[in-house]
Amino acid sequence: MNENITLDLEQTFGELNECVIVTNPERIIVFANKAMARLLKVDREEVVGTTTKRFFADPNQFAQMAELYQSPTDQRNRKAYAIDLVLEDSSTVSVEVVSAPLFDEAHNLTGILFIARDLAERRALETKLSDIALTLEDALDAISEGFALYDKDDRLVICNDNYREIYANSAPAMFPGNRFEDILRFGLNRKQYDTGGLSDDDWLQERLRRHLAGDGSVLEQNLADGRWLRISETRTRNGGIAGIRFDITELKEARAKAENAYKNLSLMADNIVASVTEVDLDGKCVFINKTACDWFNDTADNLVGTRLRDRLPWKERETIRAVFEEATRGEKVSTEISLHFPDGILRECMMSCNPRFDDSGSVEAIVVLISDITDRKKTERTLAELYAITSTRELGHEDKIAEILRLGTEHFEVPFGIISHVIDDHYTITHAQSPNGELAPGSSFPLQDTYCLLTLRSDEPTATANASNSEFAKHPCHQIFNLETYIGAPLLVDGEVHGTINFTAPDVRKRAFTASDLQIVRQFADWVGHEIARQRDHQALMNAKINLERVASIDDLTQILNRRAFLERANTEVQRFRRTKRPFTAVMMDIDKFKQINDLYGHATGDEVLRKFADTVSSALRSVDIFGRVGGEEFCMILHNADLEDAMLVCERLRQRIIAECQLDIVKQTVTCSMGLAAVAREDLEFSTLMQKADTALYEAKSTGRNKCVTCKAPQSEHTPAV
Ligand code: GH3
Ligand code: MG
Ligand code: MG
Repeated sequence: MNENITLDLEQTFGELNECVIVTNPERIIVFANKAMARLLKVDREEVVGTTTKRFFADPNQFAQMAELYQSPTDQRNRKAYAIDLVLEDSSTVSVEVVSAPLFDEAHNLTGILFIARDLAERRALETKLSDIALTLEDALDAISEGFALYDKDDRLVICNDNYREIYANSAPAMFPGNRFEDILRFGLNRKQYDTGGLSDDDWLQERLRRHLAGDGSVLEQNLADGRWLRISETRTRNGGIAGIRFDITELKEARAKAENAYKNLSLMADNIVASVTEVDLDGKCVFINKTACDWFNDTADNLVGTRLRDRLPWKERETIRAVFEEATRGEKVSTEISLHFPDGILRECMMSCNPRFDDSGSVEAIVVLISDITDRKKTERTLAELYAITSTRELGHEDKIAEILRLGTEHFEVPFGIISHVIDDHYTITHAQSPNGELAPGSSFPLQDTYCLLTLRSDEPTATANASNSEFAKHPCHQIFNLETYIGAPLLVDGEVHGTINFTAPDVRKRAFTASDLQIVRQFADWVGHEIARQRDHQALMNAKINLERVASIDDLTQILNRRAFLERANTEVQRFRRTKRPFTAVMMDIDKFKQINDLYGHATGDEVLRKFADTVSSALRSVDIFGRVGGEEFCMILHNADLEDAMLVCERLRQRIIAECQLDIVKQTVTCSMGLAAVAREDLEFSTLMQKADTALYEAKSTGRNKCVTCKAPQSEHTPAV
């Protein structure tokens, strides 16, 4: 290389800021500019004539650079080389080198020009940029949302850890440069998303459409594990898409809970038997529950937005307005009031107006609660009356039952009340209340033709206020008796089904039966059941008493009155005679020589004779006559409406009959008896005196031969025995 060239090089590159060095094809340095000398920390003159080898930190790299010299024509388009150089003071410097071959006019290679640039500066810039990127990543990781940035070709540029965590299944595909669609598809294949019934393709297309729109609108996305994300994606200025994901699972759950709570609240409001309405300050309805709709006889759609008050009678409107105005001043007001509702029913109501306040504390609306206390009041009255009826001593059993049936028909507002006795499949009316006595006790029906079958089957009170629109419509009773209204309860007596108590009407009842109505009919049934049981016990007691009395007054052996009972009756007869003067005759009777029968044939035979004697006399007497055993083989009788003469005729016939009928085969002697007759007289204050007289006459009969009838008064007629 000649001087001229060196001069040219000096002129072109000498003062250049870039470091320039030129070598000949033998790799000997022929030129280094000032900037290069500064970089290499050498004298320009000193390096000329040496090779660059000593400056290479890596000697291999020097060898590799040889190719530049072997194919110089290709060097024009060669890229830059990064080379680490060792300087004179042993420090190193990284440089970026670009090269250009130098040719003479004959196109012979004369050398190679190298332009080197210190990389430290560029590295610093790059480090700074990388620092910024790292800081950005850190910043992105710090935010609680998932963040992802896609470039204009929809390839992932950067995303934060939250983004990877949110889409854990898709995370392996989230490397920079991967396309959004591919990441999406990767996740889909790994069941990342709940596609909501869409096919994977349809879901993907829809998702891509929303993504590419990048309009910042909010999208809610459901993941397969049940989480919900809120996504917002926006186009960046250079055409990319920045997206933010926010986990709203808890928010959604809270919202669902709130919605549920509201639903439950509405359900509750609809199911309580009170009217619940909310009205604004103009009195216009904002909310109305089902009960209130029923009372106002319209639908919620029609009622909301209107003034409910205007649907009530004028007078009542005024009362309500006053209460309402007090509430609008922020007071909670309660009052009892009777209201005629559009459904045609007059209700005794408890109305309470509760002001609702807005955030600033002003009254915003009034929540009006009206509970129907008609039933409560009526129930109280009915129960009080039931108590009065059942506890009084002035009414008998039958009257009390009749009163209960009347009370029931009044309470339930129906014409008919029945108490039935059910035996097997037969239903018999035992007590009835009907306007014109249409229902007669004793009437019987097949049980299956009555609603009571349903009551007995369910074993508890049942009711319908509109049989046509209920289960009851299918029942034969509906066709046979045309009863629309029925309430009845099983009637238990001592724990056993006795029948039913029921109240019925041919018409549909205005109001449905309430739980307290069912309670009341049950109370009625309970009480009637107790009353019937009590009556049964009473009857049993009476029967026992009668039986006891009978046992106490009947002689065991002969089954006729014993001495005590006979004397009691006889005394009554004396008293009657003293009042009526109607005559009667007392007859003492004694079996003749009875001891002998006992002695000869035994006591049992004697008993047999006694029985036969009593039977014979009993069957001969009239029912009005009184006959009793007053001693071992002594009897006494009272012959009604008979003076001595009549009595003597009767006794004589009887004496004959005894002879005819009182004999026993084994007893050889003829069984006969003696009788003493005495007619009741004024002086007989008690039976004992009369009996004494008859006894005297008997004694005479015995002592004068036996088997005869003797009267105690003179002239005493004597009847000679026929045998
Ligand atoms: P008279 O003709 O004087 O009446 O003689 P009598 O034997 O009938 O009279 P008495 O009074 O001496 O005898 C009555 C007997 O009746 C005595 C007693 O043993 C007997 N006697 C009393 N009660 C019963 C009874 O319930 N069954 C039996 N088999 N005998 C009885
Ligand atoms: Mg005797
Ligand atoms: Mg005797």
